[in-house]
Amino acid sequence: MGVNLYNQERNLDPAAHEALTKIEKPKKRIVYICSPFAGDVDGNTIRARRFGRFAASENAIPIIPHLMYPQFLEEDDPEERKLGMQMGLELLRKCQELWAFGNQLSTGMAVEVKKAKQWKIPIRYFTTDCRETGEFQLRNEKECFAYRKGRCKILAIEKCQGASCSFLKTEAEAAEGRKKALNRILSLDKETQEWIINKYYKGNMSLLEEGSE
Ligand code: SF4
Repeated sequence: MGVNLYNQERNLDPAAHEALTKIEKPKKRIVYICSPFAGDVDGNTIRARRFGRFAASENAIPIIPHLMYPQFLEEDDPEERKLGMQMGLELLRKCQELWAFGNQLSTGMAVEVKKAKQWKIPIRYFTTDCRETGEFQLRNEKECFAYRKGRCKILAIEKCQGASCSFLKTEAEAAEGRKKALNRILSLDKETQEWIINKYYKGNMSLLEEGSE
């Protein structure tokens, strides 16, 4: 029920009305939802929706870039992924809190948490079933499918960038990503398939096939 604009004596009382309205409706916080995306993209998308719903039920306004940018950016294209990360970080700057979900930080999440700490944005940690918990830790770069004795076999760099690298994926996540990419490409018309294979996979479809069903 709304707050009455008139006081008990039936006189118009806008000051009291404004004060009572503020008490009745606490200001909603804009909250950045930080959760895994790469790897199990379908499962992580379903979970991110759940986290958004939870945040909304907690009187927050959730911002979830990884439910928005994959609608028009290609996750498997390093340049587009980087662009998505940059835009997400600009949104993070405008948020009042960051809520991290899961049990460990993926590399993308680690970048977001690091920036939130740098920008003094309060951080809260939750399990995947939305129970508040303590801070969880960064993944280890040695888990990365591309890691070979301190070197990286996929990026054009000499030395591995370490656990905060935004391209860190486990072998299982990399295989899942290849499988998803292949299935997406196979759903397109032949001409588009050839264009993508030539542009991103050096004309060699077998680079993806080890991850296919
Ligand atoms: S630089 Fe990144 S992608 Fe390459 S091995 Fe290290 S963590 Fe993995």
